[in-house]
Amino acid sequence: MQTTPHEPSQPAANGFDAVIIGGGAAGLSAAQALGRSLRRTLVIDSGEPRNRFAGHMHNVLGLDGTPPGELIARGRAEAEAYGVEFAVGLVSAVREGKNGLVLDVEGRAGGAPTTIRTRALVVATGVVDVLPDIPGLAAHWGSSVLHCPYCHGWEVRGQRLAVIATSPASLHQAKLLRQWTDSLTVFSAGLGELDAAVERELSARGVALVPAAVTEVVGGAAGLAGVRTSDGALHNIDAVFTAATMTPRDEFLAGLGLERTDAPFGSFLAVDPMGNTSHPRVWAIGNIVNPMATVPIAMGAGAQAGAAVNYALVEEDFGLAAEGTR
Ligand SMILES: Cc1cc2nc3c(=O)[nH]c(=O)nc-3n(C[C@H](O)[C@H](O)[C@H](O)COP(=O)(O)OP(=O)(O)OC[C@H]3O[C@@H](n4cnc5c(N)ncnc54)[C@H](O)[C@@H]3O)c2cc1C
Repeated sequence: MQTTPHEPSQPAANGFDAVIIGGGAAGLSAAQALGRSLRRTLVIDSGEPRNRFAGHMHNVLGLDGTPPGELIARGRAEAEAYGVEFAVGLVSAVREGKNGLVLDVEGRAGGAPTTIRTRALVVATGVVDVLPDIPGLAAHWGSSVLHCPYCHGWEVRGQRLAVIATSPASLHQAKLLRQWTDSLTVFSAGLGELDAAVERELSARGVALVPAAVTEVVGGAAGLAGVRTSDGALHNIDAVFTAATMTPRDEFLAGLGLERTDAPFGSFLAVDPMGNTSHPRVWAIGNIVNPMATVPIAMGAGAQAGAAVNYALVEEDFGLAAEGTR
């Protein structure tokens, strides 16, 4: 599969210089950097990038309005041109091996896992968005049920917007959305008890507060009709913003005992500014460590980690040469 005129460096016996788990924006960006560094690199991906529910990406310089799948296809073709290899599969475990790491990979059709060896590992597996359990909400996720005003606010500017609050932190989203519309309704049950000063602020900016619980998001193929509340009322709304619970996809790393950090959105792997975890051969980038990262931020982290991984391997190559083992 190597289409480059350059020969990648020799990997450790029966393995790769670098394996990247996850072929989204972060992983493909790291893959490009490593392929261009002549490293024998494999991307293992299960094909579920987080933004696959959206028709178009926004706030991505040079690619504004591009479908998410097109970025993945272009990124993959670019990486392949530098000799990066690709495998479809789900990594189920990572463990220590001799001079590197060993991965168990389950293929699409099930069966016994394949074993892959690598000197360095980049984990770019993103998060799973666990949506509020409200009938009708999931069907519109990525089209008229949204989470990020920087990604989709312009497209619904000036419309009848709503925030379905899921926790006191949703107050931030409620205030933010007012920038994109004069018609904002906040379904406030999830905010808890609001302090009088905050209520005054919201009302001074014309934000409508509805304390009744949301029981249904109503709509069809053409979009939303509205939001129904526990008192039976249907509120006419064109687009809803809400917050999912973001769960990092890192369970397969449990055997390495990596350090974690408590962030405002939960427990995530601890990394240094280049994405290195507490294990010298493991980097983690993109949403898996930074759930607020948008596509360009994930791509930047990938380019940075790709360079860091290559440099760590360069140092190891010199060390091994000096010892006479390479
Ligand atoms: C609905 C929606 C719309 C969005 N719109 C925008 C937008 O317009 N602009 C913007 O900048 N950002 C947008 N985002 C944010 C964007 O999705 C993320 O910034 C981006 O996907 C993060 O990239 P990533 O590479 O970290 O993770 P992902 O893109 O999620 O990629 C992770 C990859 O890892 C794979 N994977 C997971 N576990 C395993 C495993 N064990 N083995 C093998 N492979 C695995 C997954 O299948 C997936 O392909 C949106 C998000 C959502 C939810």
